[in-house]
This record gives sequence, structure tokens and C-alpha cells, in this order.
Amino acid sequence: MDKGLRAMQLRLENKIIVITGGAKGIGAAIARACAQEGAIPVVIDRDADAGRKIEQELTAEGTKGKWISAELSEPDACRQVVAAIVQQYGRINGLVNNAGVNDRVGLEHGSPQEYLESLKRNLLHYYAIAHFCLPQLKTSQGAIVNISSKTAVTGQGGTSGYASAKGAILALTREWAAELLPYGIRVNAIVPAEVMTPLYQRWLSSFPDPEEKLTRIVSKIPLGARMTEPEEIASAALFLLSERAGHVTGQHWFVDGGYVHLDRALT
Ligand code: NAP
Repeated sequence: MDKGLRAMQLRLENKIIVITGGAKGIGAAIARACAQEGAIPVVIDRDADAGRKIEQELTAEGTKGKWISAELSEPDACRQVVAAIVQQYGRINGLVNNAGVNDRVGLEHGSPQEYLESLKRNLLHYYAIAHFCLPQLKTSQGAIVNISSKTAVTGQGGTSGYASAKGAILALTREWAAELLPYGIRVNAIVPAEVMTPLYQRWLSSFPDPEEKLTRIVSKIPLGARMTEPEEIASAALFLLSERAGHVTGQHWFVDGGYVHLDRALT
């Protein structure tokens, strides 16, 4: 029997995987998992302290990785950062569009200008980075993974910009999967719900009693009444980036312990 048929090897060695917002939280877990598989994660993130830390961590144990500083809400910064990656590595094999912030620009408490700024923070750079990476992804027949959010389909209340950006990300996943079929580029989305990260902690601390809020949320997560681990999102992302997902495209993959689709009354 062909050994490859038995072993679930992801074969990501030396692949250049661009990860936006990869210095912390879910993106950092994806970067670590990429490095452990022998890929070269290239993290784009504006947080310099966290960026330096993840780069040190990725290169400390003989694995490879790099952090590049950029503010992604500027389209020209997206262009420049992709050009720098191409200049250094000469290829891009995968893109994880991940950076975003639940910024609570609501309908009642918000304004058209703030709404537009939220779309810049959460949506426009997904398009810009994918657009500038596309020539390299065509050459490598690479893969794109877009990180969305449960708020795209459940709503949250008080966060029109974030929720609509995440909904558009699901639409773009299908749209790009269709457009990029001729190039053999696969495009999929991961939809997390509740994952403990610095962003989540910040969001939680905006409530009067964060502990009580967390207990209430966790009790409603059907599988195991626990948060999803960042590493569990990373495992899904790595599979989707790999040739093992060779016939998977245009999918919205909910990695959420059944939060969105299982009836929470079951428990
Ligand atoms: P996180 O802990 O804040 O990490 C994201 C990183 O991206 C941070 O270092 C952040 O820097 C950086 N970043 C954000 N916007 C940026 C920009 N415009 N330019 C450059 N860097 C930027 O967030 P996370 O919780 O891991 O979330 C990652 C993704 O998962 C987001 O798209 C989020 O919407 C999605 N998601 C998360 C959850 C959850 O439960 N955590 C649930 C559903 C969806 P700063 O710290 O300076 O912002």
C-alpha cells in the first residue's frame, strides 16, 4: 500500500503561509501549528511587542517564521507588505485572512463614518491582501482560509460593522472559490464562536461582571460546555491549507462545539 494513503501527512514543508493578525490569539496558534509542520508562517501584525515575541518563538526551536509590521486597514500597506514577502521568499503558498476586531459599532450607537471605519478594520484588508497575493497563489495553486465569526449568522447586537464584515467574508469565500476554480486555488472559511484570546478577553472585560458573563456563555456551548481552543481552530486551518483538503472549496466550516447548529436545549 502507498504509505501516503495511510499517513495523514499535511505536506506543508517549506510552504510560505501568510497569516494576518498572527502575532496573538487564533492567528498565533495557526502560525505555531504551521511552523510545527515545517511550513514558514509569515505573520503580518501591527502589535510590535507580540510580533517580536512570536517571531522569536517561531525561530527558537529550529522552526521557521517571520513577523512583518503593518496596519492592514491601509490598502497601500497591504500592497507593500505582500511585495516585501514576495521579494524575500519568491513565493506564497497559502493565505490566512484572520485579523479583525469586534469593535461594537452598532446601529443605534454608531454613525455611518464609524461603520465605514469598522469595515476597513474587518473586511477591506481581506480583499486587499488576497488581491495582492493572487499572482503568487496562481503560480503555487495555493489555498486561502478566511476567518469569519458566528456573528455573521447569529448576530450579536450592537456590532453592525463587525457582524456585516464577517457576513461579507462568508460571501467572499464562495465568490472567490468560484472565481479561482480555473487556477485550482481553494478558498474556505472557518467560523469560530467562543475562543479565549486577547481580543475575547478585552470584549469580556467590557461587561460589568465578566466572570458571570463567561459562565453564562460557556454553559451554552453544546459540546463539553467549554470554549474552543485556539489550537482547535489552527488544526482546521492547517487541514484546509493542505493538499489533504484537495477537493474542499467554498466551505464555511463551523469549529464551535456545535454552538451555532446544535439545539442548545439538548443539554
Ligand atoms: P486577537 O487576540 O486580537 O489577535 C489578533 C491580532 O491581529 C492582534 O495582534 C491584533 O493587534 C492584530 N490586528 C487586528 N487588526 C489589525 C490590523 N488592522 N492591522 C494589523 N494587525 C491587526 O484576536 P483573535 O481573537 O485571535 O481573533 C482573530 C480572528 O478570529 C478575528 O478575525 C476575529 O474576528 C475572529 N474571531 C474570534 C473569535 C474569538 O472568540 N476569539 C470568535 C469569532 C471570530 P491589536 O491587538 O493591536 O488589535
